[in-house]
Amino acid sequence: MSAESNPVSRGEDSRDALYRALPSVNELLLAPPLAEFSASHSRARLLETLRRILDDTRREIAQGLHSSASLENLLRALPAQVVKDMQHESRFSLRRVINATGVILHTNLGRAPLSRIALDHLCEIAGGYSNLELDLERGERGRRDVHAESALLALLGQTASAHFDQTHRAIFVNNCAAATFLVLHSLARSKEVLVSRGELVEIGGGFRIPEILEASGTVLREVGTTNRTRVSDYEKAITDQTALILRVHQSNFAMDGFVERPRLEELIALGRRAGLGVFEDQGTGLVETLEPCGVRDEPTIAGSVAAGCDLVAASGDKLFGGPQCGILVGRTESIDRVRSSPLYRAFRADKLNLAALEATLIQYLYGDPEFVPIIRMLHMPEEAIRRRCEEIAGAVDHARLVVKTTAVKSIIGGGTAPRSNLSSHALALQHPQLDASALLAALRQFDPPIIGRIEEDRVLLDLRTVEPEFDQLLISVLNQPLQSSPREPR
Ligand SMILES: *Cc1c(COP(=O)(O)O)cnc(C)c1O
Repeated sequence: MSAESNPVSRGEDSRDALYRALPSVNELLLAPPLAEFSASHSRARLLETLRRILDDTRREIAQGLHSSASLENLLRALPAQVVKDMQHESRFSLRRVINATGVILHTNLGRAPLSRIALDHLCEIAGGYSNLELDLERGERGRRDVHAESALLALLGQTASAHFDQTHRAIFVNNCAAATFLVLHSLARSKEVLVSRGELVEIGGGFRIPEILEASGTVLREVGTTNRTRVSDYEKAITDQTALILRVHQSNFAMDGFVERPRLEELIALGRRAGLGVFEDQGTGLVETLEPCGVRDEPTIAGSVAAGCDLVAASGDKLFGGPQCGILVGRTESIDRVRSSPLYRAFRADKLNLAALEATLIQYLYGDPEFVPIIRMLHMPEEAIRRRCEEIAGAVDHARLVVKTTAVKSIIGGGTAPRSNLSSHALALQHPQLDASALLAALRQFDPPIIGRIEEDRVLLDLRTVEPEFDQLLISVLNQPLQSSPREPR
């Protein structure tokens, strides 16, 4: 039978020719730019990708989806396409973004950025071995906490004009939640802990004081009322089952009106009379008062220690401006009891956080606190922010994007100082074709993504939380064509 009289068989003949035109995996590996790319990338991953593409192409040929011309085009573009695909696949999921929300401590955006000295020290410690648990003088096993501990006690002493180094110790765990849990579990398990009803709060992300108490095996003894609690309420609740008085900083909400709660000093005096320790979940880790930037009544960690708390727990990555960790500082005998808990071993901070923490402390102690990014952002003058906004607005092509400078309020965030905001300026963006939420989504598609917020149908980019080194980048990004995201609903 001749091929002429059987069109099906002729089709199959040309399919055979298409199959034969497919290169082998090894041939593909030698084609530029794959050849250079394969030298520095996982061979197994590359082989798998190439095999998958060749299998897909064979399937497409079988389904009659290819002519010799289309196959030729595909094969010509293939090596470069594979390189592009693999670069995209191997891109980090956790990426740097530009925080233009004006929220200084944004938990979704990783809270506090680290200072340069903290980053450098972290890299040095991470890249090699260290004396993490080695006493260099005696050549014996040491404690991992000593490094940051001495800097912390010196700093607290300096800001509170007191000496804590003989009487106090510090340990460092994963975060403030872990520090609080650890204290309750190791000092008050199966016993009662007194907490004001006004302090049975939810901090966010599933951290609720009553639940932490329950999980730690302690018995919550509520005192006072939601709006008013007096020292006498605590006093009346003390029994031989009481192990601790817990004070929780009402960091993320504010109560107005008919409200009252004892000063920390009064609680401590009561604790002394009754032979009970006071443990404060201080939360923010604030080092120096924020009065100069108009934030009143935000307590400092040094203030709590100097007031006489037995133990104070704080976050490393809130107003302290360091890495995520829990700082626990207090009287030596209390800290020693906490440290001997087996859970301390489970919660203790790792060497990278300890390195960044010590470096941040050293920055506060001996350097310029303004090198800590959070402090710099808090103190950035409104006028300087306005000038930057105007410069950027003037450098953007307004035919594509309407950019104006507008006065806004930045907030501290991270569950701190809910009543306070800082006067700032923002770029207000409007686009002729995109509504505000589409524009917000388009800004997230850039590299690095830009995160803004919406107010009155405009996208606002508050420059208080954008380091000035990113201004040029912002200009070039805002001059690029915007693409609305296909994944974005609405
Ligand atoms: C933020 C906060 C916490 C939780 O701190 P993490 O470090 O995120 O665990 C606990 N208590 C208070 C009062 C806080 O403000």
